[in-house]
Amino acid sequence: SNKAIATAKRTKEILEKFGFSFKKSLGQNFLIDVNILEKIIGYAEINKDTASIEIGPGMGALTEQLAIHSDKVVAFEIDQRLVPILQETLSNYPNIEIINEDVLKADIKSIITTHFKEDQEVKIVANLPYYITTPILMKLLMDRLPISSITVMIQKEVADRMAASPNTKSYGSLSIAVQYYTNARVVMNVPKTVFMPQPNVDSSVLHLKLRKEPPVQVENEAYFFDFVQACFGQRRKTLRNNLVRHFDSILTKQQIESLLTESEIDGGRRGESLNIHEFATLSNTFYSATV
Ligand code: SAM
Repeated sequence: SNKAIATAKRTKEILEKFGFSFKKSLGQNFLIDVNILEKIIGYAEINKDTASIEIGPGMGALTEQLAIHSDKVVAFEIDQRLVPILQETLSNYPNIEIINEDVLKADIKSIITTHFKEDQEVKIVANLPYYITTPILMKLLMDRLPISSITVMIQKEVADRMAASPNTKSYGSLSIAVQYYTNARVVMNVPKTVFMPQPNVDSSVLHLKLRKEPPVQVENEAYFFDFVQACFGQRRKTLRNNLVRHFDSILTKQQIESLLTESEIDGGRRGESLNIHEFATLSNTFYSATV
């Protein structure tokens, strides 16, 4: 529709009217393409029974689409200058609540309980500020929120890393951290031209479907994530060498070798060749021996 917020013309009008200037430090790249927004809504599988949470509504481009397609929207916006703008651009939608707060500091779990219907399906949809993509997504996952999916526009390179499979260039500890909690899929690549101002990087839409249970059982989650990070430590080195380095003064080379044998994993492999099941087996074996 012509009246949508997400057009270059309307965005410029709003900028002028409110004398707003973009803050690069807050990752303010606003969407100016309604087609992309509709695709995001489609991938998020939003419907009138769903409640939605948005992070960083900006001028309300995506918020408006969420209000149209879902039951209710709660949006966290850190920039106080956007509050009066959103009040005006979204005045036609009674089912939106804007919370002027840093999402990293927000108690999202209690917001869900107080703002949505009991047992309502909750989905997170956002065009994230790129300077804190990973901290935001890890917070959403580690808080174990009662949500069913997260659909976000983020930097392409980060999306690729989060959804990567073993033996690929993008595969690393971030892939394992995200895939421990979710089924991760890059659903669309997005050109820079749909943003105002245009960002320096390419973008993708990442869809994360929350798992009911992790795909592996680990003795200790913090230990597991730390262990996986150590296995990727120096990418060109073998698993054996990365573990020797990590467990320096805690385990001897011989002990490490026998724990690898016990786990039936060849120490000559590289971290990037292990899948999440192999990482879990290995981490659990080392955990019993070192804690
Ligand atoms: N949703 C809008 C759109 O698609 O046009 C704006 C997206 S823009 C990439 C990111 C938004 O996140 C900005 O409005 C910015 O002010 C906001 N933001 C940045 N850091 C934030 C934080 N820590 N908590 C909440 N919002 C934040």
